[in-house]
Amino acid sequence: MIAELVTTGSELLLGQIVNTNAAYMARELNKVGIDVCFQTTVGDNRARMKEVLAHALTRADIVITSGGLGPTRGDITKEISAEVMGRTMTLNADCAERLKKYFARGGREMTENNLRQAMIPDGAHVFVNHAGTAPGVAMEKGGKLLVNLPGPPAEMKDMLHRSLLPYLAEKYGVPAVIVSRVLHTFGIGESKLETTIDDLILAQKNPTLALLVRPTGVIIRITAKAANEEAARGLIAPVERELRLRLGDYVYAVDDETMEEIVGRELKTRSLSVATAESCTGGLVASRLTDVAGSSEYVKGGVVSYTDEVKAETLGVNRGMLDREGAVSEAVARAMAEGVQRKLGADVAVSTTGLAGPGGGTEKTPVGTVYIAVAGTAGTVAEKHLFTGTRAQVKFRASQAALAMLRGYIRNNDK
Ligand code: ATP
Repeated sequence: MIAELVTTGSELLLGQIVNTNAAYMARELNKVGIDVCFQTTVGDNRARMKEVLAHALTRADIVITSGGLGPTRGDITKEISAEVMGRTMTLNADCAERLKKYFARGGREMTENNLRQAMIPDGAHVFVNHAGTAPGVAMEKGGKLLVNLPGPPAEMKDMLHRSLLPYLAEKYGVPAVIVSRVLHTFGIGESKLETTIDDLILAQKNPTLALLVRPTGVIIRITAKAANEEAARGLIAPVERELRLRLGDYVYAVDDETMEEIVGRELKTRSLSVATAESCTGGLVASRLTDVAGSSEYVKGGVVSYTDEVKAETLGVNRGMLDREGAVSEAVARAMAEGVQRKLGADVAVSTTGLAGPGGGTEKTPVGTVYIAVAGTAGTVAEKHLFTGTRAQVKFRASQAALAMLRGYIRNNDK
């Protein structure tokens, strides 16, 4: 079943509003196995809209429009759709009655042009608008279906779920369901990841594999299409097993799980407490750890030790070391983690010190250099990173690397 989405409205073409309806409709239709093969946007122009709809009907089984069902003369979608499907429009008594009631309920006067919304193409199926005034319609001709949905996102969504999807399911049966599972990786670049699973990507058919670069790391989306959810999950499982076998600890989470949730779980199951000492991340690591509900069970606290003075006085970093090595150094990162662990009496501690930029870089320490250390009962370990991006991106990437390092430390020392 091939669908084409036709979003209408000159505001979309002018870039004044973002076409969220197209993305939403595509997502929901794909979920029930309807392939959205085309998305078209057209302004409120009769000739061009007619051309777009006629063309859409030559290449798709289902054409779904959004927008242009309003009461004004500029709202032409339903009229043009009727024309393309060879229908005349007549006033629908039920729709007119509903409109009158709608206005009466709101204590507002109904103007004559509002009745335009009750004009329905002959023989069309009507979708009642429970979130606004304009009804939607569905018309069939030669095995093709043309559907008009309203433009306001709340109205479109309500009608899509309440009326259109059940209508399509009844009409065509549920052809298939599409289920996706996302594996989140960290610490492996896109190209190395691709090389590691190259043969799986090449052999993909059902499920399909997609690699996507996200601020948190590279994610792998496994998508399967099957008659029902259970069957789709059954297709995903062996592929996920193979991916995990090859990628090992690089995979840290699935679906909506975040790195901070995973770290929290690792700490909680081992009854470990954590403390943070942050310079360049300015408290972001602590903030992310405490984004997780129940984190008071394992987060002891943290110090944002931005200046040398705080590093020395609050965390006990040796002044001579700060002068000799510089604040952005492995030695200072280690001393910060050890200092905060001691000071707050935590089982493990993580520290960050680096240059988020954009200014201040030197040849020896370019912008993006970040040292991260983790201290705990198994000793202290440190890593040097070089991140790219804006100041905010460097800070986020550093926080992600710090949390990942914490995760690795906890897991490695629990064997
Ligand atoms: P109304 O009955 O309110 O006139 P309509 O069905 O005629 O609705 P439009 O006039 O085309 O719809 O759009 C109404 C509003 O809905 C737009 O101003 C915009 O805010 C929002 N909208 C329309 N199309 C989209 C879209 N594709 N994506 C996101 N928002 C949209």
